[in-house]
Amino acid sequence: MAAARRAFDEGPWGRMPAVERGRLLTRLGLRVEASAAALAALESRDTGKPLTQGKADVAAVLRFFEFYGGAGDKIHGQTIPFLPGYTALTLREPHGVVAGIIPWNYPMQILARVLGAALAMGNTLVVKPAEDAALSTLRIAELALEAGFPEGVFNVVTGYGQEAGAALAGHPGVDYVTFTGSPPTGTAIQQAAAVNNRGVTMELGGKSPQIVFADADLEAALPVLVGAIIQNGGQTCSAGSRILIERPVYEKLAAALAERFGRLAAGPHDADLDLGALISVRQRSRVAAMTEAAEAAGTPILARGSVVAGAPPGGFYFAPVLFGPVDPAAEIAQAEVFGPVLSLFPFDDESEAVRLANGTGYGLVAGVWTRDGGRQHRVAKGVRAGQVFVNGYGAGGGIELPFGGFGKSGHGREKGFEALYDMSATKTIVFNHG
Ligand code: ADP
Repeated sequence: MAAARRAFDEGPWGRMPAVERGRLLTRLGLRVEASAAALAALESRDTGKPLTQGKADVAAVLRFFEFYGGAGDKIHGQTIPFLPGYTALTLREPHGVVAGIIPWNYPMQILARVLGAALAMGNTLVVKPAEDAALSTLRIAELALEAGFPEGVFNVVTGYGQEAGAALAGHPGVDYVTFTGSPPTGTAIQQAAAVNNRGVTMELGGKSPQIVFADADLEAALPVLVGAIIQNGGQTCSAGSRILIERPVYEKLAAALAERFGRLAAGPHDADLDLGALISVRQRSRVAAMTEAAEAAGTPILARGSVVAGAPPGGFYFAPVLFGPVDPAAEIAQAEVFGPVLSLFPFDDESEAVRLANGTGYGLVAGVWTRDGGRQHRVAKGVRAGQVFVNGYGAGGGIELPFGGFGKSGHGREKGFEALYDMSATKTIVFNHG
């Protein structure tokens, strides 16, 4: 904290023009590119995700540094018409020291999105990576030193959430806190930051629906529907964990999904299958308990994937499960599982679809599949979600797209230009020149 404070208040960082800060981010991106294979392997080994997903994470990290490397000098203030004899203008100023508390599901990507936006705007940063997956953060910190960031600009503190994380969130020297993780931890972090009245960005997950109407291109939708829940073993804030299906195509789509689910395989990260291991024994137990509870309550299981033969015993593998039809009030329909568990729900008309989509308290992402243009607009506006995809989902990471939630999914926006506004505050200056 002291190093971050000094770097912000006294170091060269505070006087550095935005374009120079951007160049450092670009240089960091080049270092990441040169280490891409090693970083992908490290992330995959540390988290258990298949190697292909580790590579996709590195590609996203590169895009974040490329995007924010070019963005910091493109945030402009306003001039505001005011009283005669006055000129009023606004500046976007950094908060100061930003604390970033990072989860374990996409450690490297989420570090890059926080680091890119915070540093582009001229803040200094103290990051606490998740105790389950800290290695890529430590490696990128080394690369940042090599890239030439001044000392104290980017700092890493490892440790447990209750100790290091809580100490950071409630530290009086922190000017702004950004967090991605579970809603209860988000509440604890907001309470800690509230003691010092600090601003926060909270990205707290979801129970995101994809709505499939009978006129949709089911062939095009099918791989996207499957990919949106099995990517990263379902340990994704924006996982498409609910599929709402218009009744005339319910049976047909459910059967096609079941056929795909039955062929999905989980196994070691370097075998590069559909799914790797879940992050921890704790997470595996949580996913298994929620799935078993749904099964015990009589929710029909349409298909189960498998864990490959020969997977190391004791590994945190979990075979994906497809439930349907699911009672919209059931726990499995309402709570974020954060595992490869997909629930299907039939619906009869557009208004029921929107009601079901909005029926969980979360509001992060939604997908709408239909060829009807009017309906595309109506449903996209009707669903409460920070991002809505029409005839698609996820857009390959979409680092330039503002991302964040409504309701239980949190507040504030990450990614894109919007994140630069979260990572800065408006100062209004008024000149009385007569
Ligand atoms: P999980 O429970 O699956 O580990 P969390 O949302 O609790 O997910 O963890 C995300 C991040 O939040 C991790 O870096 C973790 O160490 C941190 N964390 C957990 N508890 C706290 C807390 N009370 N205060 C600050 N950070 C925390």
